[in-house]
Amino acid sequence: MSRILLVEDNEMNRDMLSRRLMREGYEVIIAVDGQQGMSMAQSEAPDLILMDMSLPVIDGWEVTRFLKAADATKEIPVIALTAHAMSTDRDKAMEAGCDDYDTKPIEFSRLLEKMEALLGTSGERASAGGKTS
Ligand code: MN
Repeated sequence: MSRILLVEDNEMNRDMLSRRLMREGYEVIIAVDGQQGMSMAQSEAPDLILMDMSLPVIDGWEVTRFLKAADATKEIPVIALTAHAMSTDRDKAMEAGCDDYDTKPIEFSRLLEKMEALLGTSGERASAGGKTS
């Protein structure tokens, strides 16, 4: 199953989202600021990154620009998560190299669809889900 790096400084958001992702069968690794997210993206080779944009130490835009400029990490899909639905935020995220974008509060099923599209696993979850109680 895919390994997801969740970069999120808000503990409540982080716990809720990581629990829901694990329930879907994802392996979830956690970073609590941009610096940690940057280094874990390099050391843990995640299949996809969920990146809060407003982060301490280094913000999500800068982390994404860095990862997309490096050969070792540029292929990892990044979904930006921001608190604002403003189109400027979306544009900024796409300019930084994010592959997709979603706004908080997270609508989980919609986020899963975006993740599956980038992971190329559409339909996989449905068959796996049949076995869960
Ligand atoms: Mn934040």
